[in-house]
Order: sequence, then structure tokens, then C-alpha cells
Amino acid sequence: MKPSHIEHIGIAVTSLEKVIPYYEQLLGQKCYSIEEVTDQKVKTAFFKVGQTKIELLEPTSAESPIAKYLEKNPHGGVHHIAFCVDGVQQALNDAEAMGIQLIDKTPRRGAEGLNIGFLHPKSTFGVLTELCEDPNKL
Ligand code: ZN
Repeated sequence: MKPSHIEHIGIAVTSLEKVIPYYEQLLGQKCYSIEEVTDQKVKTAFFKVGQTKIELLEPTSAESPIAKYLEKNPHGGVHHIAFCVDGVQQALNDAEAMGIQLIDKTPRRGAEGLNIGFLHPKSTFGVLTELCEDPNKL
């Protein structure tokens, strides 16, 4: 596996409404997309810095993984890092062969139509790691 770049950094927030203006000022740009990902029970907002996106994540339900993260980190914080790979399934297989525990054995659909798969933070030294690819660019 050899990721081409950091696709995005996922940041858990308590309220998009409160946090978006901060990033708009910090990054000198408007948020270009807000999208609800029902599968993960989150609402996302996106910015782009070079090739890398900042993905803000607000939980839409108490069962959302982001809600659980916010219980432990009430101010929000960096939730995950996502690497862009050529093929998510192959990258997940490679990771498993390295002895890394997978959250997703097969890719699923993430925000912005990406194919995504997560590695378990227990085997990635505490960093929730996402592998993703843009099926439109294959
Ligand atoms: Zn992500």
C-alpha cells in the first residue's frame, strides 16, 4: 500500500453552525459542501487546503460514532486521518496482511461518494485511520 496523499482530516465538532465560521476565517474560504451521511449518522462540512480536505463531522444521533467521541472529548477534536489509495479493497487486504485489525473488511460509501474503509485504532497506535478512493477518478 502506498497512499498518494492525505485525502482529508476528520474533525469532530459539537455544532457545524458554531465551527464553520471559524474555519471560513482561518482558511479564507467558504465551506463548499454540507452533506448528511446517514450511514454514519453525521452531518459533514468540507473545506479544501491544497489536495487535502478538512471534514467537519457533527453527530445527528446519540448512536453516532462521533457522538461517542464527543462524550470523551467534549470540545471536539481530531477524529481520524484519511489516506487516498488506488484501491480500497486491496489496501484493506494489505493492512490485514500486516496484522492490522480492520473495522471494515470491505469498502463502504462515505461522504462525497468516496469508497472508504477504516482501520481499527487498537492496531494503528491510537489513530483512527481511513483509506479512501474516489471511484469517479478510477
Ligand atoms: Zn473521513
